[in-house]
Amino acid sequence: MKGYSGFYYVLAEEERIWECSLRGRNRRKGQTFLPGDRVVCTIVNETTGKAVIEDVLPRRSQLDRPLVANVDQVVIVMALANPAPDLQLLDRLLIMAESHQVNSVICFNKADLVEVEEAEQLPKSYLKLGFPVVVTSSVTGGGLDCLKSLLPGKITVFSGPSGVGKSSLLNALQDGQSLRTGEVSAKLNRGRHTTRHAQLLAFSAGGLLVDTPGFSRLNLPEDLRREELGDYYPDFKQYKHLCRFHSCLHREEPGCAVREAMEKGFIDEGRYQRYLVFLAEVMAAERRY
Ligand code: GDP
Ligand code: ZN
Repeated sequence: MKGYSGFYYVLAEEERIWECSLRGRNRRKGQTFLPGDRVVCTIVNETTGKAVIEDVLPRRSQLDRPLVANVDQVVIVMALANPAPDLQLLDRLLIMAESHQVNSVICFNKADLVEVEEAEQLPKSYLKLGFPVVVTSSVTGGGLDCLKSLLPGKITVFSGPSGVGKSSLLNALQDGQSLRTGEVSAKLNRGRHTTRHAQLLAFSAGGLLVDTPGFSRLNLPEDLRREELGDYYPDFKQYKHLCRFHSCLHREEPGCAVREAMEKGFIDEGRYQRYLVFLAEVMAAERRY
């Protein structure tokens, strides 16, 4: 769950948190442990809840900011209004998540602030791309059960710009109980967390939550190459193999099936335009190396 002044707080299956130290040989190997790591422990003292970490299992994924292992999913929160959804940021976060082998769930919050049709349009367009989408309101409680049902058994990080309602959602999901952490129960208070150090908190409904919002650094992945960017677009998938050139970047190339699909309205124009913005960024970054 977290590391703190030389101790590691490990949540065991029976919901108990153990204060663990490292075996000498792990310490000597310079082995580091992150929140989210799955470890094998030996109990030292059942009464005081002390144990030692024997081994760490291979990591499935690792995020950088926040520094957490084995995150299963990122809930990308956007408000439908106030502030208006930042679709460029949304698309960027979708790419970031995918590049870290983390699944995305898109949560459109503040549904109470818009008309019903408007509350459906944007979510539907992303649902069509194959992303799980939840429409919520932390004011009316709408959609919260749906969001809650996605959390048990998983490590989740919430992400998105400030003011969209992340804290409100988390508090609503938690049914008024504060989230459980290492040795003290901490209320969500993100303002304090200015470092990369994260910890995991246990949801009352099951599942673990990363206590800092994800992807504070919003550049595209550093090693992303121009011809790979299109692979992050599920909406391009069924067209791009029809492009005349294998190396097509879907800009002005003759015979580009992606561009043609966009012109015919099969690919959302906004998505396509944002792709062009990202492509320019990736190409500029390539030139810098
Ligand atoms: P965060 O910065 O993403 O954690 O956002 P907060 O949870 O602090 O919420 C920002 C503001 O939006 C607060 O004034 C909340 O009361 C308000 N807010 C949060 N969720 C909703 C919602 O679903 N509907 C409406 N109308 N306001 C909301
Ligand atoms: Zn093309």
